[in-house]
Amino acid sequence: MNIRIDALKCINCMACEMACSFHRDDGFAFLSSSIMAYRAREKKDYFGVLLKEEENLITARPEGIDISRIGEEADPDKEADASAKPILLREGCDLCEEMEDYGPLCVVICPVDAITCEE
Ligand code: SF4
Ligand code: SF4
Repeated sequence: MNIRIDALKCINCMACEMACSFHRDDGFAFLSSSIMAYRAREKKDYFGVLLKEEENLITARPEGIDISRIGEEADPDKEADASAKPILLREGCDLCEEMEDYGPLCVVICPVDAITCEE
């Protein structure tokens, strides 16, 4: 199973971040979340989502998806790359593996179906 993110649907509500932090810590501590919503500083209504996997960082932007190998040099000129630094220190997504009855929390909670699962 993989997580898919459509940044064009995202409304930057940060519910996925809260849900993931709850999965990690049984509380709302954003610093433990494997998923992170970001907003470009200079652009209105430009939202993206970062997902840390075990080995890859997924950057979902309105223009499309970037997949970068963790450990490779980030591009400091890219808004999302600059935003990615905090998430690189966190645990990678485990697909909410022990929550079979509910499904991945970020998928369940996203109000606009911007996050989905694919087998
Ligand atoms: S699937 Fe679970 S662990 Fe992975 S980002 Fe979503 S809430 Fe976090
Ligand atoms: S829950 Fe959905 S709409 Fe909200 S920030 Fe996450 S991806 Fe975007």
